[in-house]
Amino acid sequence: MRTIMIRATVFFLLYYLVRYHNPKNYVISRPLTEYSSARYAMQPALIDPYGRHITYLRLSVTDRCNLRCTYCMGESIRFLPKSKLLTLEEIVRVVQICAQLGIRKVRITGGEPFMRNEILAILCALRSVEGINEVHITTNGVRITEYIRALEELGIASVNLSLDTFGAEQFATLTRRPVFGTVMQAFEALLASSIPLNVNAVLTHHHTADDIYAMCEQTRDNPLCLRFIEEMPFNGNIRESPAAPYWTHTKILSTMRDRYPQLQELGRSHHAATAELYKVPVYQGTLGIIAGFSRTFCHACNRLRITAQGMLKTCLYDSGAVNLRMLLRSGASDSDISSALISAVRQRFRNGFEAEQASQRASGFETMSTIGG
Ligand code: SF4
Repeated sequence: MRTIMIRATVFFLLYYLVRYHNPKNYVISRPLTEYSSARYAMQPALIDPYGRHITYLRLSVTDRCNLRCTYCMGESIRFLPKSKLLTLEEIVRVVQICAQLGIRKVRITGGEPFMRNEILAILCALRSVEGINEVHITTNGVRITEYIRALEELGIASVNLSLDTFGAEQFATLTRRPVFGTVMQAFEALLASSIPLNVNAVLTHHHTADDIYAMCEQTRDNPLCLRFIEEMPFNGNIRESPAAPYWTHTKILSTMRDRYPQLQELGRSHHAATAELYKVPVYQGTLGIIAGFSRTFCHACNRLRITAQGMLKTCLYDSGAVNLRMLLRSGASDSDISSALISAVRQRFRNGFEAEQASQRASGFETMSTIGG
């Protein structure tokens, strides 16, 4: 009994010392309201009605492209006048405001981002925005080679190379431009660089199972992630838009399993990732499937988009929530712009199907080149 009493006394004394003589004790004894507001300041402000925290911004810096991929844009496409693109200063301002609201990752897209002459200045400026931890870039590879050294120095977090085939003839048919050799040089240079590489291949009805196997074989000796993407209904011409993709995510997977029965399932790289990952044992790289049309990942979607002309989209499939370009050019304050972003996110759709339904008439002729993928 005496031992128990001594142990209880020692425990009480230790508890007292820690509880009331902890130099950080003032945090615990702060008035509740002050503590709550301090916590609130650390919370991300962009939370949609379904509890999804928005931390990722996909930003298109141009609608121009040096390819004419058949599923993306027609030959006769008319590009936006420069005055309708966000300027470098406007881009930086919007990203700064987004960072204050909890955006941590930015992906630069196009069109083809390297068609914009200021691309390095944009990347450089975004790398310095407080709160933005990662800047990624998506490219078709035609112009990137000369920039790779600079991208390494800037600490670009990854490059997504859009490359739908490793066959020269098929490349010319799909892209309508004879630059396969240039893109393969970029592919090799990216592999040799320190920048992590994903290859994104949109599968259309032009692809065969053998095309898919040829692409899978690229992961045998190369440390890259090759992701197959379902074709999406944004090719700028509603009459040619597919009602459903020829290669659905289930068909892609069963085709891969036919050739690689030992395919390992790796799941998603993080909760909001769009790609389901796989691996052929002993191959260096990984494979992925992105069900962009089937929309199997909306429940965890953490991204916003800003189109080349400065339209905020809270979903790939919506028709635009806020015209940021007009807002920026009408003298809006940072707090006005923050409020517009917060309010748009609060009205976000549950998923891409609801967004598409709500915007069907308005978005019929949108193209991936203006949305930015
Ligand atoms: S369809 Fe819309 S909600 Fe679904 S993942 Fe894509 S952007 Fe997010």
